[in-house]
Amino acid sequence: MKASDIILKKQNGEKLEYKEIQYMVNSYVKGRISDKTMSEFIWLIYHNGLSYEETYFLTDIMVKSGEVVDLSALGKPVVDKHSTGGVGDKVTLIVSAITAASGVCVPKMSGRGLGLTGGTVDKLESITGYKLNLTRKQFVDALDKVGCAVISQSEKIAVADKKIYALRNEIGAVDSIPLIASSIMSKKIASGSDCIIIDLKVGKGAFMKTIKDATTLAKTMVKIGKFYGKQVVCTLSDMNIPLGRNIGNALEVKEAIEFFNGKYDKRLYDLSIYISALMISTAKRISFKKAKELAINLVQNGHAKNKFYEWIKNQGGDISKLKDKAKKCIVTSPVTGYINNIDAMKLAQLVFDLGAGRVKKTDKIDDASGVVLNHQLC
Ligand code: URA
Repeated sequence: MKASDIILKKQNGEKLEYKEIQYMVNSYVKGRISDKTMSEFIWLIYHNGLSYEETYFLTDIMVKSGEVVDLSALGKPVVDKHSTGGVGDKVTLIVSAITAASGVCVPKMSGRGLGLTGGTVDKLESITGYKLNLTRKQFVDALDKVGCAVISQSEKIAVADKKIYALRNEIGAVDSIPLIASSIMSKKIASGSDCIIIDLKVGKGAFMKTIKDATTLAKTMVKIGKFYGKQVVCTLSDMNIPLGRNIGNALEVKEAIEFFNGKYDKRLYDLSIYISALMISTAKRISFKKAKELAINLVQNGHAKNKFYEWIKNQGGDISKLKDKAKKCIVTSPVTGYINNIDAMKLAQLVFDLGAGRVKKTDKIDDASGVVLNHQLC
């Protein structure tokens, strides 16, 4: 088999076979084909797309390029949650605790955020002592004891995706539906949960700008999940304006704590309850209505808050020592009036410039920096 023949076949609009995609991916991982050749292949996919079957092939090859976690020994319902990332999106911190408090296990392996704002792992790192690198045994023990564990993604999971995703970032080929679908799903399938809830952000502050594209991505991911017998539920949520009041790593943990203390932004509350209800209903196989009532109760009776503290403490974190010390600057409007829009993208850029985001995975970020919105849309 030759890379040039496979590239030519794709250029001619023909469908690729499993073994041809496997040849490209595995040869690239092993360093047998260059970045330049792989970029050419990625660009062809970017411009010409992939069929559902080819997208599944790519996903499966990336799943098999690394370890696959087996969580069946937990003997409890298990659900994973993924967000495609947005401005002020601290939902994972909240819904993981609510769902675990309902008796469902939430194993999460999260990646570091690339781009304008941090990922869940970056937010958790702003808690002094929080350990993101648990061994497989510690991870399973934490799930068994607490029901919730969030760690950084193992380098051994979906190894091919890591290399290809880095290349896509470098050559500007991220926003391709089959490439995003296979990238996200390869990591989720390899992480071992039977139920996967995906919060797909749509709007100015998300990488999916239109509902049409987001719907196509959602359908692709659900279909890939079906190939593996997984229950995948995708929900589309608005990301034209930031979610909640705080944007920035420690600031978002602070807002999650405020949430459990009963002080919350309505949009953040509604979405958190909605996602928790989806996670609980899918994993426990109960109605959405019942799961929603349960989620609301767990927030009101303080069980979700207790679970949040238990989870953070179990992973070594001291929530009283949040790395949130920063110089403050209050910006006031020179005129009175009503707020009718908040540009999520512009705020994300500002938070990035303040030091909360990274371009390369190895870049250092500032835990404390960020923006607090003292006023919301009217
Ligand atoms: N997140 C991923 O994990 N992969 C993508 O391709 C885009 C977002």
